[in-house]
Amino acid sequence: MTRIAFIGLGNMGGPMAANLVKAGHDVVGFDLVHDALKAAEATGVKAANVLTEALVDAEIVITMLPKGQHVLTVWTDILRSVPKGTLLIDSSTIDVESARNAHAMAGDAGCLSLDAPVSGGTGGAAAGTLTFMVGGSQESFASAKQLLEVMGKKIVHCGDAGAGQAAKICNNMILGISMIGVCEAFVLGEKLGLSHQALFDVASTSSGQCWSINTYCPVPGPVPTSPANSDYKPGFMAALMLKDLRLAQEAALSSGASTPLGAEAAQLYALFEKLGNGSRDFSAIIEMFREAR
Ligand code: NAD
Repeated sequence: MTRIAFIGLGNMGGPMAANLVKAGHDVVGFDLVHDALKAAEATGVKAANVLTEALVDAEIVITMLPKGQHVLTVWTDILRSVPKGTLLIDSSTIDVESARNAHAMAGDAGCLSLDAPVSGGTGGAAAGTLTFMVGGSQESFASAKQLLEVMGKKIVHCGDAGAGQAAKICNNMILGISMIGVCEAFVLGEKLGLSHQALFDVASTSSGQCWSINTYCPVPGPVPTSPANSDYKPGFMAALMLKDLRLAQEAALSSGASTPLGAEAAQLYALFEKLGNGSRDFSAIIEMFREAR
């Protein structure tokens, strides 16, 4: 049994912390939002009233927060309270630069650290089937692996500090671009009188195949479990796709990488969000192409 502090008990952090409790760990959680804290308490997480209360005797601290600025602020406070040797794991999706800064702060304080963003969404968080993309030293990774396996089914050590965040935004840039490509093809198929099933049967078994069509087809019918069959209830919210595409663009700018399709995808999702679709599944963007003249 490990004594864990879990900071940020929202849509993802709540169920992740619950799985740690189920596996027999002693989890003390903290969130600024009272309801999130109460919901976590109902799953067996011990609720702390302030951050420092959650940190008492913690061997491992996990953060699951919205953005880089939150992580840097919370890690600054955590590192003031925990003893040397404590392992800090950030599973939020944040920019690579903030992730590297967080690692540097932890190193300066004599602590171990990992960036360990996830994919798999709230369903994967609840089922304990997330994919963790991990950046940090071999020593930190070895200390964390067993614990990450409680919350995820695939754990990949991607490299040094920031490598987990780098892998996450590269993967999600592929996803955003490929979903737009699949949506465009289905709309073109509709205009040409092609049935959804016929296009799916061909493309899902030919060179057009990809996750966006084979597993997450953006039209109802061919893949019964895809959000298209439930009025595009997420799934993966368009607002989060936009967040990740923007992080990819920031990283492209600072590293000098050329990502013209990534840039276009970010602009299309920004427009889709502006039209009031931020909380719908990201595959609903097909409707924007249908309506475009
Ligand atoms: P969320 O908004 O539901 O949860 C974030 C929680 O952090 C909130 O409950 C908020 O109150 C809390 N918080 C903010 N500042 C805090 C502070 N200073 N101290 C304590 N608590 C604080 O968001 P989420 O959906 O759980 O996502 C968390 C992270 O995971 C994000 O970076 C997101 O991009 C990433 N992510 C989300 C999904 C998804 O499907 N929701 C999938 C993969 C990755």
